[in-house]
Amino acid sequence: MSIEDYALVGVRGMVAYETGKPVEEIARDYGVTRISKLASNENPLGCSPRVQQRLARGVDWSRYPDGAGHALKTALVAHHPGIDRGQITLGNGSNDILELLARTFLAPGRNAVASAHAFAVYGLATKACGAELREVPARPLDDPEQPCGHDLEAFAAHIDADTRLVFVANPNNPTGTWASVAAIEALLQRMPEHALLVLDEAYCEYQPSAERPPVEDWLARYPNLVVTRTFSKAYGLAALRIGYGLSSPVVADLLNRVRQPFNVNQMALLAAEEALQDTGFIAESVRVNAAGMAQWHAGLTALGLSWLPSRANFVCVNVKQPGRPLFDALLREGVIVRPVGGYGLPEFLRISIGTADENRHGLDALARVLAA
Ligand SMILES: *Cc1c(COP(=O)(O)O)cnc(C)c1O
Repeated sequence: MSIEDYALVGVRGMVAYETGKPVEEIARDYGVTRISKLASNENPLGCSPRVQQRLARGVDWSRYPDGAGHALKTALVAHHPGIDRGQITLGNGSNDILELLARTFLAPGRNAVASAHAFAVYGLATKACGAELREVPARPLDDPEQPCGHDLEAFAAHIDADTRLVFVANPNNPTGTWASVAAIEALLQRMPEHALLVLDEAYCEYQPSAERPPVEDWLARYPNLVVTRTFSKAYGLAALRIGYGLSSPVVADLLNRVRQPFNVNQMALLAAEEALQDTGFIAESVRVNAAGMAQWHAGLTALGLSWLPSRANFVCVNVKQPGRPLFDALLREGVIVRPVGGYGLPEFLRISIGTADENRHGLDALARVLAA
C-alpha cells in the first residue's frame, strides 16, 4: 500500500486540471519571441484603466482583507437590481463558489449532474467530495442549432433523489454553445426541492442582452437557483481571482459557513468594485470580441474549417484531425491554444479571441501547421 491508496476513492480517480500554458514557459521551452496566448479566455485588452489606477495605489498589506466584502457587495447590489446583499457569496474566482457548493452539498452517495463537454471543474469539485458526476449526453455534432451543446430537456431524467447540484454553463466552456432562456427556465421548473441548479454565467457579458436569462427575477421566484459570475473573463481580472455567487439567503448562509474567512484578497475586492463602475470598458471589450470572432470565422472559412457556434470569447474549432499534435505545432509557432481532448472533443481546438494582431498571428500559424 502507498499513501495514495488511503486517499478518497474519488480523488484517486481524478486527473488534475490542465491550465493554459504561460507565455514564459513557451518562451523558455521553444525559444520563440513573438507569443500570442489564445488559451485561457482572458480579455486581450487587459482590464479597465480605472482598475489599474486603483491597484497602483495599493493597500495596507499588513491588514487582513474585509472578510465580509462590504464595499464590493454594495456595488454588486447596485449592479443587480432586486438582489439583497445577503444573497451574495464572494469567491476566490467563481471556481471557489463551485467548490463551496460541492463541499456544502456533496458527499459519497450523492451526485451532481452536468452535460458532456461541460466545464471540467464541475467534475473535479464533485469527485473531490467523493460524490458521483452524472454526465448527460450532449446534443450531436450535427445538431442544427447547438452542435455539442447542452441538451437541457434530457437533464431531468438524470436527476434522482441523491442529486444535490445540477451544473449548467451558459455559455458553456469549451464549446461556446448556449441555451435559450425558455429551456433553462423549463429545467428550473422541473428541479426537485432537494437539488440546486447552478447556472454558471462566466461569459454572460458577451451574450446579446435578449439571450440573457433574467437571473434577478428568477432568484426572486426560484429558491433553488444559484448563479455564478466572474471577474476573470470580460472584466480582465483573472490574475486577481475573484467571482461571486447569487442565491437564496439560505444557501448564501450555508456557503458562508464553509467559506474561508478571508477567501478573497483585498486587491481583488477593490479592483472588482472599481471594475463594475466602468461599463464603457465592458462595452469596448464586447465590441473587440465581436470583431475578433468575425475575423476568426472569415479566416477559418478560408482554411476550410468549421467551428461550434459561440456566444463567448473563444471559438471551438473542428480541425478534423487529432488536435494535440496541432496544438504542439502551434506552440512552436508561438501561438498557445487549448487542446480539448480531455473534454471528449479530441479533434477540436479551443481558441480564445485576441486582438486583431493576435488573431492574425493565430490564423497565419494555423495555416502553416495545417499545410505542413
Ligand atoms: C473560466 C471559467 C470559470 C472560472 O473562472 P474563475 O477565474 O474561477 O472565476 C467558471 N466557469 C466557466 C464556464 C469558465 O470558463
